Amino acid sequence: MNPTQITARRRRPIRTLKSSARQTDRARAWRQPTQRAKHPAAKAEELLKIIPLGGQEEVGRNMTVFEYGKDIIILDMGIQFPEEDMPGIDYIIPNISYLQGKEKNIRGVIFSHGHLDHIGAAPILLAKLKYPQIIGRDLTISLIKKRLEDHTKGSAKKLDITTVKSTRDKLRLGKFNVSFFDVEHSIMDAVGVILTTPAGTVVHPGDWTMEKDPLTHKPVSYAHLSRLPSPKILMLESLGATDTRHEMVSEREMFANIEWLIREATGKVIIGTFSSQIRRIGHILEYAKKVNKKVALDGYSMKMNVEIAKELGYIKVSRDTLIPVNEIHKFPDNKIIIICTGAQGEGNAVLSRIIAGDHKFIKIRKNDTIIFSSSVVPGNERTVQRLKDNMYRQCDNVVHNEIMDVHTSGHCNAQNIKEILRQVRPDYFLPVYGNHYFLKEAAKLATEVGMHKSNIFVLDNGSVLEFPLQGEPKLQAKKVPSSYVFVDGLGVGDVGQVVLRDRQAMAQDGMFVIIVTVDAQTGQVRNSPDIISRGFIYMRENKELLYQVRQKVKDIVHHATGDRGPINQDFIKENIRDKIGQFLYSKTERRPMVLPVIIEV
Ligand SMILES: [Zn+2]
Repeated sequence: MNPTQITARRRRPIRTLKSSARQTDRARAWRQPTQRAKHPAAKAEELLKIIPLGGQEEVGRNMTVFEYGKDIIILDMGIQFPEEDMPGIDYIIPNISYLQGKEKNIRGVIFSHGHLDHIGAAPILLAKLKYPQIIGRDLTISLIKKRLEDHTKGSAKKLDITTVKSTRDKLRLGKFNVSFFDVEHSIMDAVGVILTTPAGTVVHPGDWTMEKDPLTHKPVSYAHLSRLPSPKILMLESLGATDTRHEMVSEREMFANIEWLIREATGKVIIGTFSSQIRRIGHILEYAKKVNKKVALDGYSMKMNVEIAKELGYIKVSRDTLIPVNEIHKFPDNKIIIICTGAQGEGNAVLSRIIAGDHKFIKIRKNDTIIFSSSVVPGNERTVQRLKDNMYRQCDNVVHNEIMDVHTSGHCNAQNIKEILRQVRPDYFLPVYGNHYFLKEAAKLATEVGMHKSNIFVLDNGSVLEFPLQGEPKLQAKKVPSSYVFVDGLGVGDVGQVVLRDRQAMAQDGMFVIIVTVDAQTGQVRNSPDIISRGFIYMRENKELLYQVRQKVKDIVHHATGDRGPINQDFIKENIRDKIGQFLYSKTERRPMVLPVIIEV
């Protein structure tokens, strides 16, 4: 296959939006600020509080608290992946200080779907909150159980589980009536949540998109939500707010492209995708059977997810099609499909290892086909670019979305946000689950389709928005704690800003350790101070500088102790840190972390 053959991506004409007179009328009626009706049965002091603990200023760490009187419902417990200036941090979880002491009021934790930015923090947070009831659909619950077991063996037994068998299920949790609705998203069993209270009805799709041509079901409409009791509060994941394409590729088109690539391949086909793309993996498995090719899966999370989906009966896996990766050599290359993780360029994931030549069983040949069936997660752009460059060096057929539509996003675009607003017609709009700028752009889209500015709230993490029984909602002046809680190895929250600053300083200019032995009786320096430098200068080439440092350290100690004991360690250390720090900066314009160690003998 010649790479120029596959560059002919179909360009669609940009269609103008259909606007019917009826729709305009509706939009006009809907534009009026809402009139709040008094609810006769409820007490005046009762109100609904919406408190996002994460996910309002970043992608990930999604978690929202809903409080009505003494009843608390939580939606999602996600993780956020660390940024570049957080060396050594594994991930970040929501701060739950606000919930401490209120554990007994938690009526349930609902999980919208099984992506890690929605369930990843569950093992830690559920334990901290004394295992309140959790609510979700089958796959979501299975993924949570697996995550708990991976974290602490035996902990899944402690879960108090309510499974949502159908979107017609209804639950009463304290003052909250909970119901559900179908959403379109890139993982199976994603579900939207409706929380009905006397002060308002919250509608939250979790993550969502609008798929115009799904393969396995009818397109999902959100219009029925407009009939929910007012005031309707729509909390909408808004990651696509800046995506102004008019039409997105459909699932059907994407699969047609992937199938064509598989059919035409003269070598191996290697498909990198997210491990949670279970439906996509299932589809490729079925297609492989049809064209008599074998599929090997690689990547722990991918194999685990497929296993779970198979057990639930969500995908069909034929025993002759799926083969272990260590058996691919038994078949000709053009009969092999490998589906693996690592399309984000993660250093130790499968795709990176294949490209680096480190994979035990998979070696790339020029005539193989590599398909990136994934989007680039914000923040990973440079790593993915490097991965692509390396692939293009080794392989003639690298296909990604810039070349051909081989991935559909699980997230909406700007048109979809306008469309869902027209369908649901909320009284209040709260864009959520994204960086601040996404939320602001989504707010603009809402005004474009006729919503009144005063009915749109862009909250921060920790904001408290109150909906009373009567009158307008009010944003509390004070926020609840929402600072980062870092997870590093087995430690949760023990790495704070101080530790992180140290790591940043060391990463920036290295570390300079000075070990001084001081006579406790006389206060004199014994021997020459020892120096260890890491990431700052190469010691052998800087003998003169090190000599000067040693002299200075002796002077500092001498000056501080006046050659008399007992010595004040803290005082000496501080002097060494300051003066040597300044000296090194004057010589090198670098600021390594200076660590003085005093040994008294
Ligand atoms: Zn998701």
